[in-house]
Amino acid sequence: MTTPDSCRALYVHVPFCRTLCGYCDFYSEVLRAEAVGPLVDALLCELDGCAARRTLAFDTIYVGGGTPTVLPPGELGRLLGGVRVYADADAALEFTVEANPATVTDEVAGVLAGAGVNRVSLGTQSFEPVELSVLERRHRPEQVGETVATCRRFGMRRVSLDLIFGIPGQTLASWRRSLEAALALQAEHISAYGLTYEPDTPLRRRRDARLVSPVDPDLEADMYELALDVLPAAGLAHYEISNFACPGAECRHNLRYWHNESYVGLGPAAAGFVDEVRYKNVADTTAYVEAIAAGRSAWGEHEQLPPERRARETAMLELRLARGIERRRFVERYDVDPLQLFAEAVERHGAAGLLCVDAVGIRLTRAGFLVADTVIADFL
Ligand code: SF4
Repeated sequence: MTTPDSCRALYVHVPFCRTLCGYCDFYSEVLRAEAVGPLVDALLCELDGCAARRTLAFDTIYVGGGTPTVLPPGELGRLLGGVRVYADADAALEFTVEANPATVTDEVAGVLAGAGVNRVSLGTQSFEPVELSVLERRHRPEQVGETVATCRRFGMRRVSLDLIFGIPGQTLASWRRSLEAALALQAEHISAYGLTYEPDTPLRRRRDARLVSPVDPDLEADMYELALDVLPAAGLAHYEISNFACPGAECRHNLRYWHNESYVGLGPAAAGFVDEVRYKNVADTTAYVEAIAAGRSAWGEHEQLPPERRARETAMLELRLARGIERRRFVERYDVDPLQLFAEAVERHGAAGLLCVDAVGIRLTRAGFLVADTVIADFL
């Protein structure tokens, strides 16, 4: 028997990609064939160790990275089959794998489908060749549709497409074309992220050297608003700052993060949240594999969350959702009324038209979503 907050979610980080994209700050490295077997061994060993300490019965599994689909099919199948063992046999499993267009061959799709994967999240980013080139993405736009078709042919009907706006050189018209191209593929879920210039990335260095020009902030806001208009008009409701879905197609796994629920994280640089402890594994594949092989913890850092801190984090995360902080649920979890705990922030941002407060709870308005980071920061 599990409680709503018991560990029902598993994240697995596969830190390999074919090539590295200049804007990316996820922990990833170029695929090293000789490192794959030991990594899969370590991931499965870390999971077995977790299972020895608690009962595992996942109903959402998310294998991300990196690009999991660059693993040789045999190793990919071994990994997916190994994690699938810990799925709750009595629950409807959401089993997501991240992939890049052009990495899902028929053989790979067969491995995914054979392991029970039923949702594929495709790193699409743009349908404009010039913009893909700025991002140092290696696929061609038409490969997105081919990959979606392959997934569906193998029975994986739930497809999510990631898109990026604010790419240097992007215009409102080209952004609209990418949104419409994604909709034409009938993806049931679309994520639309603003490009960020993360520290220590090649793209950030190119920006600092004035080799690329960021788009004007007003134009970037217009791009976000275009997504807020176009995607819901096509039937994909806006349910989180950057995420849109057909009814019932919201990512259940990511909803767990946004409700600040527990989850197990496996792999180098993977974060997890178990028994009120938030941890992050070492961001080094070799060190991770060595630690697990030696029977040591792979945690690089960890922190026990005091109850009020957890309540505040939950508020910050739930504000990302269109439903916002649901007052009754929040009181049940933390025994404190969010309207009292966040009275000052609620009053100030409510008066500015950035927050809406009613009997159900507290949520961002459309104007609030445009400055979400600023508003949300005041809840911590
Ligand atoms: S493929 Fe994805 S994870 Fe890999 S470098 Fe590019 S953005 Fe990062």
